[in-house]
Amino acid sequence: MKLSAKTILTMLFAMASLASVAQARPKLVVGLVVDQMRWDYLMRYQSRYVDGGFKRLLAEGYSCDNCQINYIPTITAIGHSSIYTASVPSIHGIAGNNFRMDNRWVYCTDDSTVVGVGTTSDAGKMSPRNLLVTTMCDELKLATNFRSKVIGVALKDRASILPAGHCADAAYWFDDQSEGFITSTYYMKELPSWVKQFNQKRLPRKMLSEKWETLFPVETYAQSTADDAPYDGPFLKGMPTTFPIDVPAIAKKTGVSLIRSIPAGCTLTLEMAKAALHGEKLGQRGECDFLAVSISPTDYVGHQFGINAVETEDTYLRLDRDLADFLSELDRTVGRGNYLFFLSADHGGAHNISFNQDHGIPSEPWSMGETSRALNTYLKQKYATNSKLVFKISNCQVFLDHDAISAAGIDEAQLRRDVIDFLKPDKRFAYVADMEQLATSSMPQLIRERAINGYNRFRSGDIQVVLQPACYGESRKTHITGTTHGVWNPYDAHIPCVFMGWNIPQGSTNREVHITDIAATVCAMLHVQMPNGCIGEPIEALAK
Ligand SMILES: [Zn+2]
Repeated sequence: MKLSAKTILTMLFAMASLASVAQARPKLVVGLVVDQMRWDYLMRYQSRYVDGGFKRLLAEGYSCDNCQINYIPTITAIGHSSIYTASVPSIHGIAGNNFRMDNRWVYCTDDSTVVGVGTTSDAGKMSPRNLLVTTMCDELKLATNFRSKVIGVALKDRASILPAGHCADAAYWFDDQSEGFITSTYYMKELPSWVKQFNQKRLPRKMLSEKWETLFPVETYAQSTADDAPYDGPFLKGMPTTFPIDVPAIAKKTGVSLIRSIPAGCTLTLEMAKAALHGEKLGQRGECDFLAVSISPTDYVGHQFGINAVETEDTYLRLDRDLADFLSELDRTVGRGNYLFFLSADHGGAHNISFNQDHGIPSEPWSMGETSRALNTYLKQKYATNSKLVFKISNCQVFLDHDAISAAGIDEAQLRRDVIDFLKPDKRFAYVADMEQLATSSMPQLIRERAINGYNRFRSGDIQVVLQPACYGESRKTHITGTTHGVWNPYDAHIPCVFMGWNIPQGSTNREVHITDIAATVCAMLHVQMPNGCIGEPIEALAK
């Protein structure tokens, strides 16, 4: 039979259409959140990145180079929730790592109704129940009538549980007591055999038997202050902070928890992610699955050593090599182009205060505890009461004790004004505002919007303090080591947002996108409903 050119074309077109239906979703979505990864780390250490890691993401993928966190405070539990829910604390309810709930101060993923699986420690009493909305993983589950598998992996419980969401098959996190990955009865009654086998390898102990040496000669770390910098925090009081770091000796004192604070903990996390890939046959079952991974040691290293440290530079150079290895494993197992991969971060980090001052950059510490005590003393005098009217200052928010205020018969509206008047003269505070009155507060629209997005009226504080740039919460006044994060400024709010793989064109944009656009984009690409608290928009270059 001879076929005309037209018939052949029609047949080819029909085949292509079928193929496009079958390929409507990738085989696997892999989300990688790197805790405390500033956007500029993609460039900062690039000269010594390998081809297959961060550089591959940029060379093959699409980078949104102006991705901003559109709320405050910029911290871990909120960042992970916002990436995966396309929403903000005002709506998704995760108002901090800790926040106020029903007059109690709670940890974001605490759940006393469940117990650990794989451990007897309280570290297992965790679930996503305090998250008020769905994640993109939940929406994928709903779209495939729960045939898709969703697995979360991280050393930090909150970084695994919150992304994976309510309908996840499992979230696994690291437990110091059992020295392995655990989960909770929210998800299952017994660890799967592949998790037990992974834990039985006792990788953390093996990793802690080796000293941390720099990957290259220590004097070649051109992006960092010399190794004996005064900004480094020691692992143990009085211990030197120079390389090589005597991990076995420190581990004798700290136990296995040290794995969280060294680059080997990144390796451990990605090894566990690979074990999940194989153990659950993710992306190999004819359904679109989701693997949500978060790298926690980068945050601990950042807090301890700061931005300009050899330790931080070396951690990223090592993570880059681990990432290259992980991507190769995905290529071999799921196939290049068959998985959708994205990289982002839950927040960035500030330069160390003493480091800033040493280089002439205005920067000051703020002790929230000290201000809280001074405020209570002032209010006790003013209202002639013995009650502590300010419960605490946390996340740059003043939490009033509403019960104590009403029991003392005090007019809360007046007291709010008194708190603001007391705080305003402090020159470290750029703005101080009643969180119920943010919309009419005199501050730039960008900051106002981020404060409103971050305000959950059931769970947040009552008065918002916005610090001057480069100031952060720190109880020490001198010899400040390491760093922290939590504010609106670019060093904390400007994060990586890079997509690679299935249906992703190569390119980049400097158009502003937000942390809340990530899940909106993935959902649009997968053709599934967006999360139920979504305020983000699909990034147009990707979600066609
Ligand atoms: Zn974090």
